[in-house]
Amino acid sequence: MSKLANKVALVTGGSRGIGAATVKRLAADGANVAFTYAKDASAASAVVKAIELGGGKAIAIQADAANVGAVKAAVEKTVATFGRLDVLVNNAGTAIPKSFEEATQEEIDRVIDINVRGVLATTQAALKHLGDGGRIINIGSCVGERAAAPGLVPYAATKGAVKMFTQALSREVGGRGITVNNVQPGPIDTDLNPASGDWAVPQKAATALDRYGRVEEIAAMVAFIAGPESSYITGANLTVDGGMNA
Ligand code: NDP
Repeated sequence: MSKLANKVALVTGGSRGIGAATVKRLAADGANVAFTYAKDASAASAVVKAIELGGGKAIAIQADAANVGAVKAAVEKTVATFGRLDVLVNNAGTAIPKSFEEATQEEIDRVIDINVRGVLATTQAALKHLGDGGRIINIGSCVGERAAAPGLVPYAATKGAVKMFTQALSREVGGRGITVNNVQPGPIDTDLNPASGDWAVPQKAATALDRYGRVEEIAAMVAFIAGPESSYITGANLTVDGGMNA
């Protein structure tokens, strides 16, 4: 039987990049999957179609992670559609590609609202529905633990917050059989961090494997944490970075 048969997952920011790979992987492992997106409805519907072609079930929900009302509604829509919620993947995230002193207050607020406020709000809404065996999986970053390069100051601050949110929450919900973990990717080839261009050169060089990662390599870790074999892992920071933080 598929590892995630009869399970329902919600992935934030699932229309492209790491989120889309995660949605596809969880569906391939047998879960019914809801996912949010902010802007690109056609990318979202392409992900739904790909899953349906493979015999799975998925729905896309437009919900900006910075909008607390929208993310709460997305959680409720997931449960209304599929009848339950077992796995939350807080993946939606953004960065400011400039130095801290050049970043505007509006840009800093947006990073905090999506990467931290949205994660807390979505998790709080999901906890109303998660039960024994529930999984909260946050997508942090290897720069939430170690600052590899300049240019990521507000982003690294938010991912550090995600790390401590994970650890602290694991202490509160462990008694209910719910695990909380933080997957920390290194440089992964997506629209947010393309493997081509000047900015990619030092990132690739900083990895032990001397390459960017693929979205499927993060989705594989998320699928393991979502599945039954990870039952004794909680409060952990699981770094998948090609050795960038080694
Ligand atoms: P992408 O920019 O490639 O994809 C982001 C996805 O999230 C899209 O589906 C996008 O949908 C959605 N999204 C963006 N903003 C919002 C929002 N405000 N509300 C809801 N959905 C939103 O990002 P990645 O796949 O690269 O990153 C995913 C996560 O992984 C992030 O948390 C990021 O910080 C983290 N990460 C990424 C690394 C990398 O190197 N790529 C490294 C370390 C961590 P739409 O198109 O509709 O906006």
